[in-house]
Amino acid sequence: PASRRPLIAGNWKMNGLKASAGELAAIAEGYDAALRARIDLLVCPPATLLAGFSAQVAGAALMLGGQDCHPMASGAHTGDISAEMLKDAGAGAVIVGHSERRADHGEGDAVVMAKAKAAWRAGLLAIVCVGESLQEREAGEAAPVVTRQVRQSIPEGAAAANLVVAYEPIWAIGTGRTPTVADVAQIHGTIRRVLGERFGAEGAGIRILYGGSVKPDNAATLLATADVDGALVGGASLKAADFLAIARAV
Ligand code: PEP
Repeated sequence: PASRRPLIAGNWKMNGLKASAGELAAIAEGYDAALRARIDLLVCPPATLLAGFSAQVAGAALMLGGQDCHPMASGAHTGDISAEMLKDAGAGAVIVGHSERRADHGEGDAVVMAKAKAAWRAGLLAIVCVGESLQEREAGEAAPVVTRQVRQSIPEGAAAANLVVAYEPIWAIGTGRTPTVADVAQIHGTIRRVLGERFGAEGAGIRILYGGSVKPDNAATLLATADVDGALVGGASLKAADFLAIARAV
């Protein structure tokens, strides 16, 4: 529906130095009036670059975001970054529950939910990631796993204005493999149904992104799939030309 404005989000992961300013500039410049009229565009660089990038694109429509946040606002948590700090550095959104965080840092659904709440406390859009492993997919458990994650990682009070869900099958991330259109439609339909059960009419406005090896050559197909409201892009978001090609494929 028209109420679900497409969102193309780039996750730079642990990539990018100050010298990446040129890539950001190219993305900001490519996000022209024609594109701005149709879609939201978000870049999530490493936290070290947020403040500088924010100054660089000040006044532009391009949104910046963090890749993770701590549940607390401040305190004795060496090395962690709070949602309030991301907001202060210029973020408008934050990714939580990315599968790399779930795997590398042992984050379970309860922690992800706490981080989503932290995002809201700071006034950030929370992008909550869900997705099954290859083992779960092959056992026929993709839908139940994703259903559990949507029930247990997303706090009460989710609405179109504060939440985006990203479906990222773990086996499709960084591998060049993607699910079939039918599989994407099935899982997105499942997520849409669970959001409807939990959040009623408000759930119908929450955007669901697909993520996992989205590239310029498969973007149009994936983005035209039922219940796909945009994409979360990893590798291909590092090159402005590729990222913009994906955005234009909406
Ligand atoms: C991601 O990790 O969010 C992702 C989608 O990565 P890639 O596009 O590189 O598969």
